[in-house]
Amino acid sequence: MNLLTDHWIPVRPLNGGTPQAITLEQLLCSHDQWLLSLPRDDMELAAMQLLICLVQICWIPDDEQALHSYITKPLTTDAFRQGIAKWRDSFCLDHPEQAFMQVKGVDAKEPTGMDKLLAGLTGATNCTFINEPGQGQALCGGCTAIALFNQANNAPSFGGGFKSGMRGGSPVTTLIQAVDARFTDLRTTIWLNVLTQSSLEQLMSNDLQLSQAPTWQQPIVANSAIAAANIGLVRGLFWQPDHIELCDPIGEGQCSGCGLRANKRYTGFFKAKFNFTVNGTWPHPHSPRLFQVKKGETLEKFLAFTTSAPSWTQLSRVLVKLQPEKGDAQQPAAVVAQCAKVFRHAKTQLIVGGYRNNQASILERRHDVMAINQGWQNYPEAIEAVVQIGLQYKTALRKALYTFVEGIKTSELKGAGVAVHEVAERQYFRQSELLIPDLLATLNFVEPVPQLDALRRQLQQLCTALFDEVTTPYQHHPKLVRALAVARRSLHKHLSELKQPQGGQDAA
Ligand SMILES: [Zn+2]
Repeated sequence: MNLLTDHWIPVRPLNGGTPQAITLEQLLCSHDQWLLSLPRDDMELAAMQLLICLVQICWIPDDEQALHSYITKPLTTDAFRQGIAKWRDSFCLDHPEQAFMQVKGVDAKEPTGMDKLLAGLTGATNCTFINEPGQGQALCGGCTAIALFNQANNAPSFGGGFKSGMRGGSPVTTLIQAVDARFTDLRTTIWLNVLTQSSLEQLMSNDLQLSQAPTWQQPIVANSAIAAANIGLVRGLFWQPDHIELCDPIGEGQCSGCGLRANKRYTGFFKAKFNFTVNGTWPHPHSPRLFQVKKGETLEKFLAFTTSAPSWTQLSRVLVKLQPEKGDAQQPAAVVAQCAKVFRHAKTQLIVGGYRNNQASILERRHDVMAINQGWQNYPEAIEAVVQIGLQYKTALRKALYTFVEGIKTSELKGAGVAVHEVAERQYFRQSELLIPDLLATLNFVEPVPQLDALRRQLQQLCTALFDEVTTPYQHHPKLVRALAVARRSLHKHLSELKQPQGGQDAA
């Protein structure tokens, strides 16, 4: 199966209709509008990334104007053929010698089932609760390619001795999408996330090293140390850190992933440990990066979901560039940064996805589509203000309740000893997941102050209500009356400090 020419992209029509598998040419050379059609949002995000990477290397837009024209007009058949000509045999899942994202002759005693390739399907204690059974039984070529790509790029490694991808085991991926439902089709979304020649050059220090082949054509040398700066665009986008080889496929039948009928279906693969080191960080265009200065050295890493806090808490890291003079710095994903520059008047929203893991186990799948009102591109400080306000109120609530839980040793004040601050924090985050994304979708970035003040009032009420809710059971407990009064005073003190007396400070 050739990803550039065969029917493998699992889609359904934007305006409703039957799911089917189409070719890249059908997707890019027509005005027909499609959406991805897979049973899991993380697999859809992976399919989207895989397509963006394919388009990115076949048709690099010369400039912003070329990019705009790719978005509005489908490719001509000629342009399509020219674009794929160079990569013709490079993306075959079943190539006899150089198969897509695999190596030949993997030394493994037993095959591994395909469910291991579908991130989060096995290993985690809660995995059976969030996944339909049987998903990995027999996958069509399309679902197999998507799963291989996802495992190599987005998911934690298989465990001890296996490597995770270029961006670490659980990177946050951020992509751009149109707000207007008429333009959320797959073709438009792909092009919104393709970087122009100059965006690419800026990202990769002017050298795309396009002649460098992907890992399945030019394998990573065992035990080698590779400088990230020497990894080319194609090799980096399709980096495969593991030794994987698909077992021979079985015949025709229904794919347990997309549900479509397929001629060949894959039921297992061989995997083997393999060692090498990458020094430095490859500037992957789909993830925000964080920089930390420690002992004079700058440490760089990709943003990851490390707690169960909702995605909005990470939003300033995802959207706002922070200069290093304050110590820590952050850089939005190149596709988001390009959007802020090239589509500054377009209504766009953000797709944020990733996994939260504990080593090889996936604890949680995260996938949010966040609408940010038009104008964020020009007023990043307002985003920062929303996130800060949201976090400050959470902290005020948590601190006050912590006093109630622990008491105050120096004044011999006994605490409740039950972790109600944790309960309240979870509730706060749950409720904020409705409030804050709603605000961001409607925020007037030119005049944000009235809405920010309204947010403060809402969060103040939320904090007071949650405080009452979690402490009510202890209200009449004689030994806790004092602790409760002290905690309540502390809450009021923190909350009144957070009221913004002179509006207008946030956006400054
Ligand atoms: Zn399938």
